[in-house]
Amino acid sequence: MIPPMKLVTQSFLFLCALATTVSASPIRSQVKFDADVEPALRQQMLGDLDFIAQVKGSRTTPLHQQVFGKLEGANYSKWFDSRIFSIGKNACGGGNAVACVIPFYDNNKMWVTKNYTQFSHPQISRVSVIFHEARHSERQNGNWSHANCPTPFKDAAGNDIRSIWTGALLQGQAACDVTPFGSYGSATILLKNIALNCETCNSKVRADADLYANDQLGRVIDPKAKTAMKADFGMIRKR
Ligand SMILES: [Zn+2]
Repeated sequence: MIPPMKLVTQSFLFLCALATTVSASPIRSQVKFDADVEPALRQQMLGDLDFIAQVKGSRTTPLHQQVFGKLEGANYSKWFDSRIFSIGKNACGGGNAVACVIPFYDNNKMWVTKNYTQFSHPQISRVSVIFHEARHSERQNGNWSHANCPTPFKDAAGNDIRSIWTGALLQGQAACDVTPFGSYGSATILLKNIALNCETCNSKVRADADLYANDQLGRVIDPKAKTAMKADFGMIRKR
């Protein structure tokens, strides 16, 4: 028979081991899902939030420091969870929207459309979409409403610029930014820093982040804002 003292010791050790395991795991997002968000989509989104909750890098660019702070999973989790409390499904006005925040309804609720689910995009780009939306929760900043993209809206090669997510033509659409701090700008800053500075990300994640960062940088149409971002990312020399 085991003496009672031994039993106490064993359960104490077990609790300690359990506590260690829990603290080593990423903080799980507390975001709530509407009943009509399918389990598979919930799992995917929670998995994406778990992923970003585990990244780490010892360096960031100054703009990243300003918007997000350090490149650290716990930091990103806090940033997201303090902005988005729940996720639902909505057409977001129809058309080519991928996701939205509807400020007059709820500043802290994010909606995803069928465009979020029907295309296959890399995990880090899905993270950038939900962080883009989280930026729109900031009522004190006018929800960082978009600027209209110019007409025509062409890249350096003279081709029409289209959404990397849906392929939709962007000229004249409210799908651009004139500041590094808006939703497109800040998502670009996040992506570029993952590409440049994430030390726990594998090469595919970093390459995906760079691809989407360069695309989203194209949505920043104010020349001064774009130059400031390129300098921040080390793409051009700071003046
Ligand atoms: Zn937006």
